[in-house]
Amino acid sequence: MTAQQYIQDGLPVPYIARWSLERSATPRLAVRHFPDGPRLAFPAEQETLYDRDEYGALWVRQPLARGKGRARLDTVHAMRQRRAILHSLCQMCRASAMVQDHDRALYLLPAAHGPIGEGSITAAPPVCIECAPRAVEFCPRLRQGWTAVWAEFAPVWGVAGVIYDPRTLHPLPPPEGQKLTPIEYGEPRIRWTLAHRQVIQLHSVSPVHDLYKLAV
Ligand SMILES: [Zn+2]
Repeated sequence: MTAQQYIQDGLPVPYIARWSLERSATPRLAVRHFPDGPRLAFPAEQETLYDRDEYGALWVRQPLARGKGRARLDTVHAMRQRRAILHSLCQMCRASAMVQDHDRALYLLPAAHGPIGEGSITAAPPVCIECAPRAVEFCPRLRQGWTAVWAEFAPVWGVAGVIYDPRTLHPLPPPEGQKLTPIEYGEPRIRWTLAHRQVIQLHSVSPVHDLYKLAV
């Protein structure tokens, strides 16, 4: 755990949780014409270099106010999720989740998500081996059943977000049972997506059956 671990109602607040003062501050959406064609955009005078990632995807804008107000344990702050998943930081405590000797990280998901196999995609950052048993203890969705793997390689795959109709700019419904639509970089619909999560792909995976005996 780091010094910045917040406790709320006696429970540790995950690093990636969104706090009540971190509500979306996304500007009005617009269509802008770029050299490679039209894209979902913020009004030209409001969009900054930080609003798009290196692949050109537009990202939801949320203020940073970690520790202010109350933590919303059922929601995720987009920028902290992105930072954690891109840098293999523990989603609970922000420490590095890489197990140094073996160069791998632990990914822990609710069993309801189905099995994690070679090439599975996920928006869940890893957890460190100290936090893994606590995550299962404290997270209601993991308490109902979990599945976990080591992954040695986790490249960026795309984003999960809301796709907008290019003509009306109304949001399109996500796949059934999901809040956001996963979109791979390079897919044409990424141009009309407001990204909320970074999605990675897991490779060289091996299953984990006991979180209390994590060999390192
Ligand atoms: Zn941790």
